[in-house]
Amino acid sequence: MSEPLDRSTIWPYDEQGEPREFYYSRYASPTIARAEQALGALEGGEALLFPSGTGATTALVLSLLRPGDTIALAAGAYFGTGVTFQTLAKWGLRYVEFDQTQAPPEGVQLLWLEAPSNPFLTMPNMEAAAAHPAPVVVDSTVATPVYFRPLEHGADYALHSVTKALGGHDDALLGAVVGRDLDDLRAFRTRTGISPAPDPAWLLLRGLHTLELRVRRQTETAATIAERLRAHPSVQTVRYPGIAGLISFDVADGASARRVETSTRLIVNATSLGGVTSVMESRHRWEGDRVPTGLLRLSVGLEDADALWADLAQALDH
Ligand code: PLP
Repeated sequence: MSEPLDRSTIWPYDEQGEPREFYYSRYASPTIARAEQALGALEGGEALLFPSGTGATTALVLSLLRPGDTIALAAGAYFGTGVTFQTLAKWGLRYVEFDQTQAPPEGVQLLWLEAPSNPFLTMPNMEAAAAHPAPVVVDSTVATPVYFRPLEHGADYALHSVTKALGGHDDALLGAVVGRDLDDLRAFRTRTGISPAPDPAWLLLRGLHTLELRVRRQTETAATIAERLRAHPSVQTVRYPGIAGLISFDVADGASARRVETSTRLIVNATSLGGVTSVMESRHRWEGDRVPTGLLRLSVGLEDADALWADLAQALDH
């Protein structure tokens, strides 16, 4: 059943002239509260929405840290997270990268992991992270709560780019933080105005109805595609952790990657991941030398597996 979408920014006070639960949308609003409830229930915690995944990242680090603090960021995690931290350097925030499959470095005030990392697709060592004194954030955008619930593995916060699989249809820009007690972050969100809009929250509610179906089907198809990629003579390394729909693989060089990404017909040459439409792109254009020149990232959608493979195979043979 469809949920109501309330776009109002204001609601009337009660008969005594006192504010009710909802009175001004920067503080809270019904559609957003409903979507936060639904996501919180899936993750086993309390959820707060933000205008994008990046907005969620910014709000979380600014609310937790102070000038001079250092974040240990998983190497090979989403490129934009490092860009965000770099942008915050002039306010005294530092970050160092580390191998998230190993123990995190000492002397840092926040651990930032990714499950699995995008586009290298390693899983974090949660035991080592939980044993570290710093709070632990896991960006589990790629895994989704279908496969991984960070709070159950010792994380203090789960973070999502809802723009990806949770929304699932490439039509909503939204982010989320899930934790056990988000009162401070909620106050920070209200006071800094990093507040979400109701329409994307409504699209999240709709997307959650089919999340498990979509993600399981994407996983099944991705497993088939990864296996066929491994057997293809033009493909070198194939990275696929066995969960969700994201694969990365290497062809010989940048020119080959460009040829493959521009030769598909069904798979759209575009960025992002987790949607119903399969998309593929060379990541070197964005990430530079931190990724191989021939690295292609493929996000598998809901199309037929054989049709996707036929498209990919003809592009690889192009
Ligand atoms: N985290 C991961 C793993 C991502 O892939 C992305 C976006 O690509 C983000 C965070 C940032 O999310 P948004 O684009 O919604 O700001």
